[in-house]
Amino acid sequence: MSYAVKELFFTLQGEGAQSGRAAVFLRFTGCNLWSGREEDRGKGSGGCARWCDTDFVGTDGDNGGRYEATELSKRARALWDGAVREGRGARPYIVCTGGEPSLQLDEALIEALHAEGFEVAIETNGTRALPQGIDWVCVSPKAGAPLVLTGGDELKLVYPQGTEDTEPERFEGLAFRHWFVQAMDRTALSASLLAPRTASTLGDSAQSEGDRTALSASLLAPRTASTNEDGLRACVALCQQRPRWRLSLQTHKLAGIP
Ligand code: SF4
Repeated sequence: MSYAVKELFFTLQGEGAQSGRAAVFLRFTGCNLWSGREEDRGKGSGGCARWCDTDFVGTDGDNGGRYEATELSKRARALWDGAVREGRGARPYIVCTGGEPSLQLDEALIEALHAEGFEVAIETNGTRALPQGIDWVCVSPKAGAPLVLTGGDELKLVYPQGTEDTEPERFEGLAFRHWFVQAMDRTALSASLLAPRTASTLGDSAQSEGDRTALSASLLAPRTASTNEDGLRACVALCQQRPRWRLSLQTHKLAGIP
């Protein structure tokens, strides 16, 4: 099988429990919740289609292209080896992301990555079953997209998404080891303002008129910094009120790295 890769690059993991760790990022092409095209934002099956700011279309990014498993794994290892000077005590780490990486990541590729010495992580929307052998599973639930994965290493919730099905208490009975909330990125917030709204995108079925008004006001409030201050405040309040949750910041953006 060949794999469609948007980009492959060496950086630090910026978010969640592995934040700050050197990592190769493998971004697969394609997602099951949105086509990735602007004109389809209002039609995505997940509410995240209205705010997603990830480019997962095509194969035109750094080291993008179509690869066989062995070739892709060796290319990833070459990126690691090209950057790491002294690797004792640090297992090579690769984060499979997208788009939705479970559309392509399979046991053959996981085996090939393991053969190159990688610890294999995935960042998934949790709507699809995963192949065996992944070493670190991070699930990021999305509005309107029912979870198939109910356990893993890390649950990372973009908050607030404005729908009842993404309220944090909905997930607290699941089998995760680490619990993070992360404010929506400011760029994503801007995209959401431009996106056509559907009944589900602002949680019409679940929210009162007052809630919707407050959410709309928060989305439209003027901001001066690059951070989504309202979202960040909501995340801080949540972590204080429900201490199983911890705050995740997009530290790679603070550090100015990809
Ligand atoms: S699942 Fe992730 S990549 Fe896919 S549309 Fe939603 S936010 Fe974007």
